[in-house]
Amino acid sequence: MSDKGNYVRLPLHQVSKELVAVAQGTLPADLVVKNIRLLNVNTGEIQDKMDVAVKSGHIAYVGDASHTVGEKTTVVDGEGMVLAPGFLDGHIHVESSMVTVREYARTVVPHGTTGIFMDPHEIANVLGMEGVKLMVEDGKDVPMNVWATMPSCVPAVPGFEDSGAEFGPEEVAEAMTWDGIAGLGELMNFPGVLMGSDHAHGEIAATLRSGKPVTGHYSMPDLDRGLNGYVASGVSSCHESVSKEDALARMRLGMYARMREGSAWHDVKETIRSVTESRIDTRFALLVCDDAHPDTLLSLGHLDHIVRRAIEEGLDPIRAIQMVTINTAQYFGKADEIGSISPGKFADMVLLSDLSRVSVHKVIYNGVLVAEKGEMVVPIERSTVPDFAKKSVRLAGPVTKEDLKVVAPEGATSVTARVMEIIEAHVGTYSREIELSVVDGTVPAWLRSPCSSATRPPGPGDWAS
Ligand SMILES: [Zn+2]
Repeated sequence: MSDKGNYVRLPLHQVSKELVAVAQGTLPADLVVKNIRLLNVNTGEIQDKMDVAVKSGHIAYVGDASHTVGEKTTVVDGEGMVLAPGFLDGHIHVESSMVTVREYARTVVPHGTTGIFMDPHEIANVLGMEGVKLMVEDGKDVPMNVWATMPSCVPAVPGFEDSGAEFGPEEVAEAMTWDGIAGLGELMNFPGVLMGSDHAHGEIAATLRSGKPVTGHYSMPDLDRGLNGYVASGVSSCHESVSKEDALARMRLGMYARMREGSAWHDVKETIRSVTESRIDTRFALLVCDDAHPDTLLSLGHLDHIVRRAIEEGLDPIRAIQMVTINTAQYFGKADEIGSISPGKFADMVLLSDLSRVSVHKVIYNGVLVAEKGEMVVPIERSTVPDFAKKSVRLAGPVTKEDLKVVAPEGATSVTARVMEIIEAHVGTYSREIELSVVDGTVPAWLRSPCSSATRPPGPGDWAS
C-alpha cells in the first residue's frame, strides 16, 4: 500500500538507509515507545523491559532504544504495558456493519484494528466492479490498511437473484491487477469446484496466476474426499468451520482455518477447541469476524472482542494474538510489511493495558498515535457516496401491507408451511414443515420461533401486528 493520502505508507526501499541509521544510533527516531512488555509474535513470547524505535512509519529498532532518542523524538512511556502488533481481520464484510469503510475504520481502529481484508460481496452483487472499486477507494486515506478480496460468487445463486451484477474469470483477472486487491473472496461455489465447473476453476486460475490467495467457503460435512478436492483446487482458507473437527481437518490439510466470531454466528467456542485440546501448531489458525452489526462493534468491539473470546475459551493469549497478526499477514503474503513488531515492518501497534482482557489503551498506525482510550485522536473525513451508488433498490411500486400478507386457502383454519429454521448463533439452517394457524384468512408472521415449540399453541406476543 502506498497511496494513503494523509497516511502515506513509504515503502521500505525508500527508507531503508534511514532505518539502519536509527538502529545504529546515528539518526534519531521519530517515535520511541519505551518501557513495554513486547508481545513477540515471531517467537511467541513476552519480552520484558523493551523499547521500540520508529522512523518514517517503520520500526527501526527493538531493544533498549535510549541511543535512538534525539531532541525531536516523541517518547511514549508504555508504563510496563504490553505492546502487540496491530490487529488484522482476515475476513470481513463491511456492508454488514451498514456503514461506509471510513465509518467502519472510525469504529474499529480504537479497538486495535489496523488492517482489514474485506470482501465487498454485497455491494458487488448490486453495483458490480464499480462497487468493488468504490469500497477500495473509500478505504484509502484512513489510518488502517484496507485490502479487498475480489468477490467470487456474484450472484451467489445464479438464476435466482436479480440484483444486477455478474462476475466470472474475466472480471476476476481484471480485479487482480488493481491496487488493493489481496486475493479472491470466499469461493462459496464449492459444488462447482468439486464438479469441475469452468467458471469456478477459471476464477481460481485468474487468482493463482496473479500470485494471490483464493479464500474459501466450504460448508459440507465431508472432511475427506470433498475437503481434499476443495483444497487441491487451490483454495487455501475457509471460515465455515463450526466444530473442532472441521477446523482441525482444514489445518491438517494446510488450509487456513479462519475461526469466526461475528454478530450472528459464534463459532469460536467450538472451533477453538481444535487448538486448545490438541496442542497442535497454530500457524494455520486465524480469528476473523465475517459480519458485525453496528451494535456488536459498539458494545463488544471488533478483533479485541474475538481474541478475548478465544482467551476465555482457554487459548493462550499470545497464540490468540498471533491469530490476528502474523498468521493473517503470512496468509495474505503481507508479513514482510505488517503483522509483527520487527525492524523494517510498518509501525502498526497496539498498547494493551491488560493482555488477557485485550484492553486496548493506545493504537499506533504508521508510527502515529491514532487512537487512545477507545477514541480516535486523528480525524477521518466522511465518505462521499457517488450518485450511481444511491437509490439502488428498485421496486415495481410501493410496498403495502397487503403485499406482505400470506393468504391461506379458503376455509382453512391452519396450513402446513415449509419454513427455514435458523439455529441461534450458528450459520447452519434447516428445512422444516410446521403447522401454522390461519387468522382472518391469512397466515400471520410469528414473532417467536415456532419451530422449537411447534406443538405449543401460539400465545400473546407471538403474532406480528
Ligand atoms: Zn464471509
